Amino acid sequence: MTQLIGPGSTIGIMGAGQLGRMLAVSARQMGYRVAVFGGDRTSPAGQISDRAWSNPFDDQDALAEFAAACDVVTYEFENISAEAAATISKHVPLRPGVELLSTAQNRFAEKSALSQLGLTTAGFRMVHSADELTSARSDFGGRIILKANTEGYDGKGQWAIDEDTDIPALWNDAGLTGALVEQRIDFEFELSIVAGRYDNGNCVFFDPMLNHHANHILDVSVSASPLISDQTRREAIRMARSVLEHFDVVGVLCIELFLDRNGRLLVNEIAPRPHNSGHLTIEAYNCSQFELQLRTICGLPSADLQRRAPAAAMSNLLGQHLPAAWTVDNLAAFDRPETHLHLYGKPEARTNRKMGHITVTAEHASEAERVARRCREQLLK
Ligand code: ATP
Ligand code: MG
Repeated sequence: MTQLIGPGSTIGIMGAGQLGRMLAVSARQMGYRVAVFGGDRTSPAGQISDRAWSNPFDDQDALAEFAAACDVVTYEFENISAEAAATISKHVPLRPGVELLSTAQNRFAEKSALSQLGLTTAGFRMVHSADELTSARSDFGGRIILKANTEGYDGKGQWAIDEDTDIPALWNDAGLTGALVEQRIDFEFELSIVAGRYDNGNCVFFDPMLNHHANHILDVSVSASPLISDQTRREAIRMARSVLEHFDVVGVLCIELFLDRNGRLLVNEIAPRPHNSGHLTIEAYNCSQFELQLRTICGLPSADLQRRAPAAAMSNLLGQHLPAAWTVDNLAAFDRPETHLHLYGKPEARTNRKMGHITVTAEHASEAERVARRCREQLLK
């Protein structure tokens, strides 16, 4: 049984972005102290924290000092080195765990682990040359994606390849020594499931979200979409449970999935942390994905997840969606109680930078999605 890490204790967060910020808000609400690593007091999470370290992630002395000031450490992004994880683990529990972390930061290791668990993924293999890439293209039916094996996010470090792609030129430009190739799935839609596991083995699941991407970045997530059948829901839960149990997770994770044209569910990747698609849980559930992260890593009592609204949708706010200066007109669409604006406290609104999101709850998913999109458009009116 995990020892209770009670209110008043310090939650350490590796990373100082919006996921850390929303966890910090939950933690503060319940009387915890917050320490962040990877950003100063002006960073999104640093603004809500008691202490912040802006040192680089490989500064082992600073990591040791940070960990010694915390009662438990969690992370909001996956690219934490094994050495950094070891330094932290010497002082405090690192949750949801080092094995999950190291697997999730290496796409090949991740896909291999998923298929060993018996979960379906797109066909995949490592390639180390233009010739191997050419063979992979023909073996996987002509349409593939080349992915840098480590450190990609928001589709960065990915190349879509078709029959007519000039592979030697692409391989040369990409400048990789080895990379993952995946069969390109012609999917019906993308979805994700956020789940948590307590130390006593109790697993809880939010309903899967249907996700729309734009320019390889999550654009809109919808909860309670009628397009997700009960069978797909059950299958997503089964997949998430097997990952939670296999890695003996204590914490929260998200699994990104594709539903293909034959109704098969395939796992794309694991995020070992709360996920952008789960932001709508803040308003749509009794316990958000961030409160769930806090509850699980601190050994608090487990809460059943219950909806507060029949359906919800979230639209992401990127730099280009925000006005240069706010006027009351920009906020006119937020005149209804079901519309919620979140901003992450980032000073500079660059194109494609995640600046905030909008959540809308409704009786039906289609209404929630329509209003979430309309509120976003209204911001630039
Ligand atoms: P993110 O940070 O947004 O999760 P990422 O850089 O980690 O992205 P992936 O999630 O692997 O990368 O891929 C980004 C998007 O590219 C997916 O959400 C999907 O739209 C598309 N994609 C990735 N792999 C495949 C595939 N095998 N078949 C079809 N589409 C894919
Ligand atoms: Mg992804």
